[in-house]
Amino acid sequence: MENHKIADSRYKNIRHRSFNQSFDIYYFSLLEQSNELNTISLENYISFVENTSQIEKSRLSEIYRKLFQYSKQNDQIHELDNKFTVIQLKKDYDEWEANNLPLIKEMEKHYEEYFKTILPLDKFNEKYGHDEDYEKTCEYCKTKRSEFAKMIESGQIITKRLYSRGRTLEIDRINPNDDYNMNNIVLCCYWCNNAKTDEFSYEDFIEIGKEIRKIWEKRLKSNR
Ligand SMILES: [Zn+2]
Repeated sequence: MENHKIADSRYKNIRHRSFNQSFDIYYFSLLEQSNELNTISLENYISFVENTSQIEKSRLSEIYRKLFQYSKQNDQIHELDNKFTVIQLKKDYDEWEANNLPLIKEMEKHYEEYFKTILPLDKFNEKYGHDEDYEKTCEYCKTKRSEFAKMIESGQIITKRLYSRGRTLEIDRINPNDDYNMNNIVLCCYWCNNAKTDEFSYEDFIEIGKEIRKIWEKRLKSNR
């Protein structure tokens, strides 16, 4: 039997992140339409998830991300269409969340079913499974997992977070505002993923990856 342990945990991880994103934009869409938060319900959420177009979800996600960045980085108040402020948004949300944890759990359970339709586990495993596949490469710096293993073993990689990240490749979304579907995900190394953030586009990072590759190559050569 093939071992899909790493793929399984990757899958669960991105499913959870995908749920969080879907909930954020659902919540945000209600605010944007000036709907009261008391219209939030399991049925309402499911309907939003299943019936909202991908274009609309991406639009909401993009605005939401910007607001979220503001709220994390600034103590000042930012107006959005004079409807609400970021600080208030965050405060209201935290309060709502604290009072509705069981409902959020229910939503996530339903989302897990929906997620199978966006990203079927068997397709995902086909492409990203096989724990022992050391020939898989980072989409950006084109470095193999086996090469990272070599550098780690010889002490040429000293990242402090190696206990949790770096030993396996990670999943990156080409467009971070879109779903985790098969056309929007790639495997990449921890270092590229970490450096790419939301700032650089896929195309930008293909270019940056070429430069990163040169550094890895130097290290790999000195290792021989
Ligand atoms: Zn890389």
